[in-house]
Amino acid sequence: MPELPEVETVRRSLQRLVSHKTIARAEIRWPRMVENPESFSLELVGKTILSVWRRGKYLLFDLGEKVLVSHLRMEGKYFLKDADAPGEKHEHVKFVFTDGLALVYHDVRKFGTFCLRRKDELHEVPPLCRLGKEPLAPSFDATHLASVLKGTRPLKAALLDQRIMAGIGNIYADEILHCAGLHPEIPAGSLSFEDTERLAACAQKIIQDAVELGGTSIRTYKDTLGVTGRFQQRLSVHTKEGEDCPECGTKILKKKIGGRGTYFCPVCQKERKKG
Ligand SMILES: [Zn+2]
Repeated sequence: MPELPEVETVRRSLQRLVSHKTIARAEIRWPRMVENPESFSLELVGKTILSVWRRGKYLLFDLGEKVLVSHLRMEGKYFLKDADAPGEKHEHVKFVFTDGLALVYHDVRKFGTFCLRRKDELHEVPPLCRLGKEPLAPSFDATHLASVLKGTRPLKAALLDQRIMAGIGNIYADEILHCAGLHPEIPAGSLSFEDTERLAACAQKIIQDAVELGGTSIRTYKDTLGVTGRFQQRLSVHTKEGEDCPECGTKILKKKIGGRGTYFCPVCQKERKKG
């Protein structure tokens, strides 16, 4: 599943390839992905993509008064093609531009979503109103993180909650916890301020590095707009079960936490006794 760095990589490609293009029509082949598909198609006609932004794992196409909100979920991908190129299986939404090209949305799992929102209320209504701060936002720091990390759920589960750190998923949660030396099952609300400072600094460092390297190419998710991420070469623990921890040489363990395969080093990320 693409996370912040992968979505940011897609965003940069889209910004370069489709901004300033005008939509002639939208063809929707799988209407269940699209909120109000009929009005969605009607509203897009004649709209120009001014710019492409990102918030968390959402791609945001600025159309002026409205913003097209796209979430890739598990395996959504975009391709830029000739508008009259034959359609392929798994191509569910097609934005045909006035210049003869088309942006095609491909999604084997059909979990992706599309909706339109008014720009002036974009951040006040779902889905974006549910997102926490971006880890690379200037105001993201330990004080902020301490104010949102609460309760007894495992820290790993808290990091996957988009209200805590927007854009973090399973890969980067594992890497951030390893960097910070924190066991994934520590209760989220039990961190000292020093732990929280390290966690905030690691989140910023890992996400910054991953964005610079174009994200992680892992399993089925590959950036389709000509960029292949290289952060997989920097992964310390994620998908490394049985391999040596790059910090201490201990074998990396894998454990299901909150339903997600979680990779960690039992020495660098020691479990703590309660109390
Ligand atoms: Zn280690």
